[in-house]
Amino acid sequence: MRCALQEGLPSLGVLFGNMADAVYLLDPITSNILWCNPSAHASLGLESGEVLNHSVLSLQMDVTGLPQWADIAGVIRGASCYTFLGRHRHKDGGEVPVEVNTTAFTLGGREYFLSVARDISRRMSLEGPAGTQDERLRFALNLAMDGLWDWNMRTDEVYFSPQLKRMLGYGPDEMAPHVDTWKRNIHPDDRDQVMSLIEQHLRGRLMRFEAEYRLRNRNGHDIWVHDRGQVCERDAQGRPTRVVGMVQNVTDRKLLELRLEKLASIDDLTQLPNRRAGMAFLSHQMALSERTGEQLSLGVLDIDAFKSVNDRFGHAQGDEVLHQVAMLLRETVRTCDYLYRSGGEEFILVFPGADREKADAIAADIHAALEAKDWEGELGMPAVTVSIGLASYPQDLSLMHKLLDQADLALYRAKELGRNRTCHARDLLVAASAPPHVARR
Ligand code: GH3
Ligand code: MG
Ligand code: MG
Repeated sequence: MRCALQEGLPSLGVLFGNMADAVYLLDPITSNILWCNPSAHASLGLESGEVLNHSVLSLQMDVTGLPQWADIAGVIRGASCYTFLGRHRHKDGGEVPVEVNTTAFTLGGREYFLSVARDISRRMSLEGPAGTQDERLRFALNLAMDGLWDWNMRTDEVYFSPQLKRMLGYGPDEMAPHVDTWKRNIHPDDRDQVMSLIEQHLRGRLMRFEAEYRLRNRNGHDIWVHDRGQVCERDAQGRPTRVVGMVQNVTDRKLLELRLEKLASIDDLTQLPNRRAGMAFLSHQMALSERTGEQLSLGVLDIDAFKSVNDRFGHAQGDEVLHQVAMLLRETVRTCDYLYRSGGEEFILVFPGADREKADAIAADIHAALEAKDWEGELGMPAVTVSIGLASYPQDLSLMHKLLDQADLALYRAKELGRNRTCHARDLLVAASAPPHVARR
């Protein structure tokens, strides 16, 4: 080589400079671009210096984070040449479809990746009409859809389209074309439901297969997909032999939905379920206990003299107290217990399977935990106390729907008796012979 160059052939710089493909020298650990040829920055609409501020993560739309890059880097090291179909981000906001061939090499004890990226937008527009009818259809759908799959049920082979592989962070030569590859990537919590839906479709009980579920991508993250499929070929006996489907990446929409759902059911200040979600859980738990005859205790907890906390230390400090009390409650109750903020400075505690004595013991733990907390040291204020009203089914009363009212009345009894204590519904019976109950506020 040196000999040839000495004989007047162009230098390597001139050769790279005149190359139509984009060439990048990469740091395998960070994915940073260490060097590139002029075609590289020209194809991205960048100035030569600008490219060096980029990495694969900022250029390649289909590589979403360092864990995914680390995984890809591992495959690159193990392959003589790794091919990845992806999209480069152009400076003007557009995307450039590219086929990238990457090789790893070591020089002076340091490892490098050399990537050659070819803009395939022209090839994609020319390739379309070639091949069989099936292939042409796949080609067109591959471009139009996020992902396409074609399951040959006789062999259990599955064609995964390049877009689908790309959506999951894989190169075109990866993902074994087998139905097990797909099953393995379904989130374990969603797998049974997805398999049941496809089974029902195959048995003719559902017109089509349609499911929204999580698929694991190469870096171990889950993406939400909307998957729709349909049997399109059958054997002479009418048994399905081929199913074709389309997968759409709906992660952004799904995460937004889940966030809104959470916002609608979680109290922002305490991060506990709010009244709406809590009531739904409570009525479900009450119905369950009534049906099974299992014991159930309820507690209504109210912070004592909370108004004076606001008055003396300000509303923000009041909010902090609510937050701290909620955390302390969560730490003190059993893992099977459920609590929610029913409003203001009032919380509902649900103790499934707990009898009166157990509920009393948990309430005592709550008082003790509040007393043990260093309120003066942490928040510069006197200790916060609470009053709790408890009622147990079926010990105290067999009418489940009155349980919450009874716990509420027990709370007012606790307030009446001087606060910082727990009263039980049974205490009301003792008080029943006394003058009429304190008026509700
Ligand atoms: P008691 O011992 O009888 O329960 O007295 P209390 O002062 O705790 O009860 P009261 O019902 O008189 O006052 C409750 C106060 O709680 C009034 C209200 O401004 C305050 N509050 C309700 N929700 C919030 C909140 O989200 N943040 C703050 N900082 N205060 C709240
Ligand atoms: Mg109060
Ligand atoms: Mg109150």
